[in-house]
Amino acid sequence: MEMTESLPCPACRKANALPLADPSCKRCGLDLSELSAVRQASLDRRHLALDALRRGEHELALEHAADAWNLQNDNVSARIAGLTCMAQGDFESARSWLAVVS
Ligand SMILES: [Zn+2]
Repeated sequence: MEMTESLPCPACRKANALPLADPSCKRCGLDLSELSAVRQASLDRRHLALDALRRGEHELALEHAADAWNLQNDNVSARIAGLTCMAQGDFESARSWLAVVS
């Protein structure tokens, strides 16, 4: 599953495609390099979580999904964490993760 990701500029809200070809926002020139690094680290953890989930390594999957969430609160990370909790039969934790999905 390959997803096209973008990084919204915090100054002008322009969606800049990831990975960034240029560390500056295409519209306003704001340096997005550090924000991009955090975003990429979160995406990497999400991919690790999905890989671990596919292998049935639920505890590792949940650890990576929680790391991804801690780097960037996003719906996909919360859904992966919730799905992992369901796979473990922990429906109360799954409900907590899925409650944050907007
Ligand atoms: Zn901008």
